Amino acid sequence: MTKKLSSSQISSMGEGTTEKVHCLIIGSGPAGYTAAIYASRANLKPVLYQGVQPGGQLTITTEVENYPGYPDGIQGPEMMVHFEKQAARMGADIRYGLATAVDFTGPVHRVQIDEGQWIEADSVIISTGASAKWLGLESEQRLNGYGVSACAVCDGFFFKGKEVAIVGAGDTAAEEALYLSKLCTTVHMFIRRDAMRASKVMQERVLNTPNINMYWNTETDEILGDKKVEAVRIRNNVTGAATDIPVSAFFVAIGHQPNSDIFKGWIDMDDAGYIKTIPGTAKTNVEGVFASGDVQDKIYRQAVTAAGSGCMAALDAERYLGEKGLH
Ligand code: NDP
Repeated sequence: MTKKLSSSQISSMGEGTTEKVHCLIIGSGPAGYTAAIYASRANLKPVLYQGVQPGGQLTITTEVENYPGYPDGIQGPEMMVHFEKQAARMGADIRYGLATAVDFTGPVHRVQIDEGQWIEADSVIISTGASAKWLGLESEQRLNGYGVSACAVCDGFFFKGKEVAIVGAGDTAAEEALYLSKLCTTVHMFIRRDAMRASKVMQERVLNTPNINMYWNTETDEILGDKKVEAVRIRNNVTGAATDIPVSAFFVAIGHQPNSDIFKGWIDMDDAGYIKTIPGTAKTNVEGVFASGDVQDKIYRQAVTAAGSGCMAALDAERYLGEKGLH
């Protein structure tokens, strides 16, 4: 299904030869594949490069129960195989490869793949996603998907009626702690300073929720458990006192990093690196370049919203190409 250009194909293109495509999609999460499905059906002949993590963030989750159309739920990696198959069946040219540089100076946009070949595209859809930030503990990595999660909305339900913990003090952590408080008996919330970064209104909601226990000046030293999360070892960074708290899940909500580095200087983005789109569209400030999914969304970050915005990007690209007489 996924194509890797053979060395003969590459060499037949010749030194310095540039491949030309109508619609180039960068990224292979729900946004990229949905854009590919719509762009293929509109006969834009899209070429999609999958990036370092084919299938995106969902390939590191376990069960997905909130994506419509799967009444019994589905494993994240399997769902992304379905997305890929559907895009391929519609005719998308899906390839391994990472976009490593761009040049958006002209009306034809140039994108470099794997620091080698350049592609010229009449339209580009950026769906490179975002990556959750992690604490960097070995146990956090080992138990990822077994009680450790970076998405309470995705995984909180599995811990209904249980005690859970969350680390983080921004709006995401506040929102997720409140979400968890409605499902779980107790939410232990670890804040590394003596104050939260979240907006006042969110802070007040968290502080006024009786089953959220706040731990100030608190850092996580270890997540304990062999095959699944059983407890978390925290340390007060003022007194040095360590405590083990039994929990069934540990949610990490310390921010996300949009995968937008290669577009810096070419496209308008906010201070955190999220690509700015014109509200209600997938258009960026560069004509013919569109953005969809988590690389432009720091609020919702759901597979279904990413897929929806991938659809918008393909429809916007089709309209753009039509208006320019390129399609
Ligand atoms: P933020 O960057 O705002 O917050 C990250 C939080 O994680 C900070 O409180 C930070 O602590 C903490 N943190 C970072 N590293 C560690 C660590 N190693 N150990 C412990 N704690 C750590 O990220 P968010 O995802 O919360 O929000 C991103 C943006 O999206 C913000 O602008 C936010 O306002 C916005 N947003 C808006 C929403 C809405 O409007 N509904 C919903 C969600 C997000 P410290 O404060 O000490 O640096």
